[in-house]
Amino acid sequence: MVGIGPAEAPRRRLNESPGGLLVRYLILSDLHANWEALEAVVRDAGPGFDRIVCCGDLVGYGADPNPVVEWVRDHCHLVVRGNHDKACSGQEDLEWFNPVARAGAIWTGQNLSPENAAYVRELPKGPALLDGLQILHGSPWDEDDYVAAAHEAGDAFGYLESRLAFFGHTHLQGGFIWNQSRIETIPPVSHRHGRQSIEIDPSCGYLINPGSVGQPRDGDPRAAYAVYETDGRAAVSYRRVTYDIESAQKKIHQAGLPPYLAERLGVGR
Ligand code: ZN
Repeated sequence: MVGIGPAEAPRRRLNESPGGLLVRYLILSDLHANWEALEAVVRDAGPGFDRIVCCGDLVGYGADPNPVVEWVRDHCHLVVRGNHDKACSGQEDLEWFNPVARAGAIWTGQNLSPENAAYVRELPKGPALLDGLQILHGSPWDEDDYVAAAHEAGDAFGYLESRLAFFGHTHLQGGFIWNQSRIETIPPVSHRHGRQSIEIDPSCGYLINPGSVGQPRDGDPRAAYAVYETDGRAAVSYRRVTYDIESAQKKIHQAGLPPYLAERLGVGR
């Protein structure tokens, strides 16, 4: 595999739209069957996206797997599977999951409609390519691996073919920049603000984590997502939005899922 990492020279320009027209991408990850969070993200992002992509984990943990999967089926142009998508559709040995995640996976498997279960089961493994961008769930070689630290990002850059890749799995908004000499860590949006933008330098490599729509774990309970826009001057905007956490929590309790799954939504951990 050819990489863009530390040992590699620049090979490819960032995706270029025909004629340099503005192309807008909505980037989602780790929705985890949280309908209230997804609805708030869609409302906050507004209309006018040319492409919507999803970096996996549509289901698991939350109580609304069917509405979330149906929305993704109807709206996303490219989706890769996450580790929970594998587990909830019977493709993973659940003994590797902690008891709470296992209970969520079993409940989800029992409650997904046959049609939605088939869709989740057939999701492709990442990295997947769209317009020169790559999307993946965990690491480029395994959706169960975490890219959480700079040295892990350094390894991952070596396996990527695109200068701009979007990933998830850690539920931590931010990511990493390979600036040809070292790996920089992108900090999350501050708790006081809803947005933060970074301009994309075509000479650098980017691993961008939009954060988790449905179960943020960076101490900020607001739903997280990202927008990527390119019109010659490409930029990624990280965004956060409040949502009706209480309704999502109530549904988790009513479904008989582990109460911890509701509690953690309130604190974003
Ligand atoms: Zn996840």
